[in-house]
Amino acid sequence: MADATMTPLQHRLRETLALGGCALCRLAEQDERAFLQSLTYERILDIPTRETLQRARGLCAPHARAWRAVQGCALPVALVYRPIIKDLLAQTEPQATQGWFSRSTSPHQLGERLATAAPCPACRVGEATARRYAEVLLRDVGAEEVRAALIRGGGLCLPHLRLALQASGPAAGYRALLAAQREAWSALMAELDEFIRKNDYRFQHEPMGDERDAWLRALDALVGSSSD
Ligand SMILES: [Zn+2]
Ligand SMILES: [Zn+2]
Repeated sequence: MADATMTPLQHRLRETLALGGCALCRLAEQDERAFLQSLTYERILDIPTRETLQRARGLCAPHARAWRAVQGCALPVALVYRPIIKDLLAQTEPQATQGWFSRSTSPHQLGERLATAAPCPACRVGEATARRYAEVLLRDVGAEEVRAALIRGGGLCLPHLRLALQASGPAAGYRALLAAQREAWSALMAELDEFIRKNDYRFQHEPMGDERDAWLRALDALVGSSSD
């Protein structure tokens, strides 16, 4: 395929597949990081973003940890989280006559009210990216270099395979993706077998090859990976 005919999305997917590991995890994480950067430097006065953060009661645990690591985040965090804490105080204000709990408000109901009303906005950015690239992959996985890179990189993680199977694409794309994924899983299983075999005392003199980190790739294959 001539490079000039490819879209930037196709290029970025191919470049990411070449790095190995689940490409959709990598792409999602890049865009989530960019979102946290923009939250720090640009979006702080963006009202819809602040409203979404308030309804989500802040970021999820992994993204809260990731935001902490962004330089210059201290004041933006304080500005975003102050109204969230203020809202928690308002939600848990005792009623003048009935105190906290009454027939109409049980502790259980109060617990419900303190739940989040929106998903973590950084997670939503990552999911949108993963879905967009899953659609590109479904269209391009028929190309031999894409198929080969996908298998060499270990395929998609299970959550992103499921997302891709539920994304829109051509019928041949789902079949080609599933066939490539099964090849990647088969290769991983063979490496796990080899890793387990070489851990047997009878074969411990045999040096480990690429299978030495198959157990780590097995962990990532089921839940996805993060570069942290
Ligand atoms: Zn993934
Ligand atoms: Zn999140």
